[in-house]
Amino acid sequence: MTKLNTYWRSLTLRRKWAFTSAAVLFISFALVCCILYVAINSWLLNEEKSSVTRSMDDLTAFFETRGSGLTIDEIQRNTGLMNSIIDKNQTVRILNKDGIEILRLNNTSEEIPAVPQTLPLKGYMMQQVKVDGEDSFVTTGHLRLGNFSGYLQLTHPLKALTSLMKYILTSMLLMGIIALIASWFISSALATVLLKPLKRLSSDMKRVADHRFEEPIQVTVESNDEIGDLVRVYKQMMAELESAFLQQQRFISDASHELRTPIQVLEGHLSMIQRWGKDEPDILNESLATSIDEVRRMKQLIEELLELARHEAKDQSQSADVFVQTEIVLKEMKTIAPTAEIKLHYNEDFQKSHVAISENAYRQILHNLLQNAVRYTSSIPSINIYLTFDLNNCTIVIEDNGIGMSPESLEHIFERFYRVDKARSREHGGTGLGLSIVKMLIDKYAGELTVSSILNEGTTFTIRLPLYLAQESS
Ligand code: ADP
Repeated sequence: MTKLNTYWRSLTLRRKWAFTSAAVLFISFALVCCILYVAINSWLLNEEKSSVTRSMDDLTAFFETRGSGLTIDEIQRNTGLMNSIIDKNQTVRILNKDGIEILRLNNTSEEIPAVPQTLPLKGYMMQQVKVDGEDSFVTTGHLRLGNFSGYLQLTHPLKALTSLMKYILTSMLLMGIIALIASWFISSALATVLLKPLKRLSSDMKRVADHRFEEPIQVTVESNDEIGDLVRVYKQMMAELESAFLQQQRFISDASHELRTPIQVLEGHLSMIQRWGKDEPDILNESLATSIDEVRRMKQLIEELLELARHEAKDQSQSADVFVQTEIVLKEMKTIAPTAEIKLHYNEDFQKSHVAISENAYRQILHNLLQNAVRYTSSIPSINIYLTFDLNNCTIVIEDNGIGMSPESLEHIFERFYRVDKARSREHGGTGLGLSIVKMLIDKYAGELTVSSILNEGTTFTIRLPLYLAQESS
């Protein structure tokens, strides 16, 4: 069994397919043949049986009507009537008490079948036995004629039936072999045609794996079946993988570039301190201040990079009270940007204030957006926060009066390290990762984030977060 298993596993899918469908076709054909064979055989046997019964009934009736006066000699002299009763392939014998033949009509069998030990007193007994090597029906009954008492025996050879059944069996076997060969070829051809897209898919996968997305995915699909679906899913998956792969490559090169700049600045200032700093306190102080700034920037950059890379699994059981958490962030903002005017607007008419997101994540989202609103403005920042609730969601709108962004820039702001104005962002301690983190967190908690902006007028970020529904039961 294990050998068969190993052999089966070593077969190609095409062979397995061809083998299985050929086997199924052949077994179905063989089953139909068997049923047909048995049905024909029993139907023909019944026909033969009724012919024997008919002859035997006629013979019995003949002897009964002729009365007890009839003698064996008379029968011998006048066999014509009895001959007309029986079929020409049947042999009728009259045997004495010892089973010795006294009279025979027709001569289709030489051998005299033995009289059965137990015979019914009335009627006759039918058996299927071999006579002269041939299958035959032998019917035996008691016979009384005047003083004579013996047996009446009818032998009905089944030669015609046997040879017909042999002929049918041979034809069926021949047809079976032809069906087996034909079904193997048809199944193989079908399997080849159906598995062709899979073969193309596998060679395409190999090519892509060898060249690491340098060559385009070529496989095409026309069919709407399962294989077509598989190829489509594969193409979609490969496109996503390719974009993730390219994004990762860009991220690594961007991250190394971003980290290299502060390290170079730090190195320059430390060298300066080493050379002149000991003697010139001005240079020492300035270089130390710049170095500390650079180290802070690097620390923030590393923290944000780690935040993005961590990408923890979301915790379904966590929730945040929008009002409590917003107040916490507003307090923080007051210390960071005391001049900024931040107003919170909300409708009193709401049932639930918990959203399905962790408190940390909520605060980080709001913090990043408010920090940007404060950073990217040329006047005193004036920010409005609107909180609205519907049956399933909470919508948070953050509207600022900042410098705004052009439609081209808007398309890229959620990309890592993207900054509309590099110098301005750096000047305010920006890393180009704030909005990527916001987007990542909102996606993680199944929220939605949209942005609209008008250059020199302001920007509006709209966040939709699902309400925490388990709140009702607690
Ligand atoms: P950064 O650390 O540079 O602020 P972000 O990912 O937070 O990085 O933002 C990406 C860029 O989008 C910023 O550099 C800035 O140019 C632009 N930006 C973000 N928020 C605003 C805003 N409220 N108003 C104008 N520009 C913005």
